Amino acid sequence: MREKSFRTRAIHVGNEVDAATGAVVPPIHLASTFQQPGAGEWGEFDYSRSGNPTRTNLQTTLTSLEGGCGSLAFSSGMAAIHCVTMMLKTGDHVIAGCDLYGGAYRLLHKICDRSGVTVTLVDMTDLAAIESAITDNTKLIWFESIGNPRLSIPDLKAIASLAKSKDIRTGVDNTFATPALLRPLELGIDIVMHSATKYLGGHSDCMGGTLSVADQALFDELYFIQNATGAVLDPLSCFLVTRGLKTLDLRVREQSKTALELSQWLQQHSCVKSVLYPGLASHPQHELARQTLQGGFGAMVTFELDGTIAQTANTCESTKLFRLAVSLGAVESLIEQPATMSHASYDAADRARFGITDGLIRLSVGLESMEDLKADLDQAFSASS
Ligand SMILES: *Cc1c(COP(=O)(O)O)cnc(C)c1O
Repeated sequence: MREKSFRTRAIHVGNEVDAATGAVVPPIHLASTFQQPGAGEWGEFDYSRSGNPTRTNLQTTLTSLEGGCGSLAFSSGMAAIHCVTMMLKTGDHVIAGCDLYGGAYRLLHKICDRSGVTVTLVDMTDLAAIESAITDNTKLIWFESIGNPRLSIPDLKAIASLAKSKDIRTGVDNTFATPALLRPLELGIDIVMHSATKYLGGHSDCMGGTLSVADQALFDELYFIQNATGAVLDPLSCFLVTRGLKTLDLRVREQSKTALELSQWLQQHSCVKSVLYPGLASHPQHELARQTLQGGFGAMVTFELDGTIAQTANTCESTKLFRLAVSLGAVESLIEQPATMSHASYDAADRARFGITDGLIRLSVGLESMEDLKADLDQAFSASS
């Protein structure tokens, strides 16, 4: 039988009609423990840290969307990344993208280093640089399918095949792209991670993280760590992410459309020095973005003003519709200053080295109308100039 389309699977897979009641939306299972058929005989579920029906439903839906053999849902995106780093041992080396979420930077540099894991940050758009950073101890290459905050686009297929040839695992944070635009497992990546707090949930009302993999042995290893350490996603949040997934494709495509138009408009604006958006011909990896992302270039837009750190902050504080907040990926638009907010956990020297300048502003474009968002930015530029 022909495989059903992404949108159909997002609504139906993992959302079977409840056999007991006929409810078309599966109930939320809050039980922490489950009655067993006998002593030492185990049913499908025994204890909710090890497995919970509502969590299973979410994991089933997500596996259908990302591809692969299985997914795991965690209490946050950071808990999901932490699970991956717990596979590492003293002496292991990690190569990570230099255009990286601030929390991932902090985990690698300030927690993993305590157990003797070393990290090298590399420009993931430079394959030769990745290759030359590889050592005999390199065990993991970790990066984002759309970088943060500079929205760089790496060549996932090339990085996956380089890593495979050296027996190194690859992990991709697919939070910005979502499976609606890009499915890294199909390109040979070993582990796909999401902050479900963002687009998967989509409404700024729950936190969560996920991992999806295509290899059963790797899945078993990650499941073992998750069950042993316990950062599982609670049933209510599982339900909210599952509900969010039903409209993921619609939301991401519509928000990407608005983001493209907004970035074209920003590019022409006299107050704006430059715009970083993968959908613009001026983006350094625009061609690769066209091949890699399907149906849109994402809804994150980064641009640069000529101003100081204070002037840029003033612009961010002057919007009325765009909320001044970290996080992203929801129906309401957000604005933030990476240097003082999302990337404040970077060392100042690394911020300078990786282009996280004082004038940088990052937008998460929501589902409001294009005209209202444009007008809001326009008035913020006037108010702060
Ligand atoms: C938010 C975010 C994370 C961390 O996820 P939490 O749910 O906040 O723990 C990781 N990567 C990216 C790209 C993010 O935006």
